[in-house]
Amino acid sequence: MIVAPGATIGIVGGGQLGRMLAIAAAQLGYRSHILSPEASGPATEVAAAWTRGDYDDWESMRRFGEAVDVVTYEFENVDPHTVAGLAGFVPLRPSCLSLDVSRYRPNEKQCAERMGGATAPWRTVRDPAELAAAVDQLGTPAILKTCMFGYDGKGQARIDRREDADGAWQAIGAPSPQDANSAPAILEKRVDFLAEFSVILCRGADGAIVVWDTPENVHRGGILDTSTLPARPEVLAQASAAVELAKGIAEQLGHIGVLTCEFFATVDGPIFNEMAPRVHNSGHWTIEGAVTSQFENHIRAICGLPLGDAGLVVPKVRMKNLIGEDAARWREILSDPCAHLHLYGKGETRPGRKMGHVTWLG
Ligand code: ATP
Ligand code: MG
Repeated sequence: MIVAPGATIGIVGGGQLGRMLAIAAAQLGYRSHILSPEASGPATEVAAAWTRGDYDDWESMRRFGEAVDVVTYEFENVDPHTVAGLAGFVPLRPSCLSLDVSRYRPNEKQCAERMGGATAPWRTVRDPAELAAAVDQLGTPAILKTCMFGYDGKGQARIDRREDADGAWQAIGAPSPQDANSAPAILEKRVDFLAEFSVILCRGADGAIVVWDTPENVHRGGILDTSTLPARPEVLAQASAAVELAKGIAEQLGHIGVLTCEFFATVDGPIFNEMAPRVHNSGHWTIEGAVTSQFENHIRAICGLPLGDAGLVVPKVRMKNLIGEDAARWREILSDPCAHLHLYGKGETRPGRKMGHVTWLG
């Protein structure tokens, strides 16, 4: 199925990823229609149309679905039942399967393991007693995470000693299970990593896959701070195994669009951390640093168009996130004529909030 330029792309989610997707869509001659619960936001400001509605509100979702030619999403924490209903009458790309696997941490880890990938030792936990048992089994240091709805390190707590377990359970909000088959939280052994990196690929509707160069990612306080290319040689040495794993996952899922997998580089090789069935913060540098950006290729993929080349346009690229007050430094950033400044147009500056990013080439 080809969705030709001129058609309307529905994007579920109104944040900066939706904004950059809508900009890429406009460049290719598409209109974008955003579904988001907020009154306005980074994506609605650059889109042709939008529907205000909650992600679990079927009536809004139906109206949105009827107004668009294909639907994609900029984040994975949407209600799968509502989205499945949408998929009944408008193409949803990536599909519900990609969404189901990536929105629940145990699913994504099992998916990577089935494909032969290594993960940090982990256990699902339902209550403080199960957590205490899991801490005994895995040992410390460990990290407790909510199984769903986590982002930017939110919904996580460190467990350095056994005694920290109860406090960690409280800190992540002691969530209740979603349903009888799912656990609210997951305990992971803390990985002693050399570096973090991600594999960003795009799989077209015809099954063709392009893979961008591997960025080395540095996080601060659980939030991505910088992505740098090329990654250091010790990281690059592990990239090809990680790329093969990510490609296998994309093929297994019949994924259409960008898929991002996050990895730890360790002395024992790459360890899969998590995946996102979408464009990713560690791929923002592709806007200026690659022949085709992750945003453009995602739009091309979901519309059934051929994918663009993912090669680097210069040997070195660096992306830095502007978090909270960082964005107030826009004058200083622009004093470097080679800096590409991106601001997301978020009204309110809050600590830890992603307000924009800067990319430097060369
Ligand atoms: P994102 O913003 O990427 O969606 P997230 O909140 O979903 O992040 P993770 O990517 O799992 O959560 O964790 C955020 C960061 O915390 C990681 O990039 C890494 O720096 C650190 N971290 C998470 N899990 C582990 C682990 N098992 N061992 C060591 N560090 C970890
Ligand atoms: Mg992550």
